[in-house]
Amino acid sequence: SIGPNARCQYHAGVTDCLFCRIVAGEIPATVVAETDTTLAFRDIDPKAPTHVLVIPKEHHREIGDVDPALAGQVLATAHQVAKSEGIDSSGYRLVFNTGRDGGQTVFHVHCHVLGGRGLTWPPG
Ligand code: ADP
Repeated sequence: SIGPNARCQYHAGVTDCLFCRIVAGEIPATVVAETDTTLAFRDIDPKAPTHVLVIPKEHHREIGDVDPALAGQVLATAHQVAKSEGIDSSGYRLVFNTGRDGGQTVFHVHCHVLGGRGLTWPPG
């Protein structure tokens, strides 16, 4: 089965994009929310008590490449995750690390949802 992959431009088994492979169900992930166009799953190396990644199922490299309507759907899912994680009222942070200086290492756009503790500012 290729799983919830209808919106992924890649076919199962023929992409080396880690997050496309998660969308395809080829690599396991702990999914916490899903819509037609977005997927939210727990970060494998959490930096806070809540650390979830929200991605568009469609492959785009970075936020600037994402259609504004789809970007809005990613943000709406991120907010839903904050609510379901119980951090909506205490507060949380949404982060898109972008490019070299942004520290991006996975080049399928993703929104980090971080919370569950006081987060420091500025980032390193
Ligand atoms: P960074 O690695 O510097 O945080 P990114 O903003 O590109 O850069 O974030 C990639 C995130 O993907 C990291 O937080 C990393 O822990 C996470 N990650 C890597 N592999 C997996 C995986 N298989 N499942 C879930 N999260 C993953």
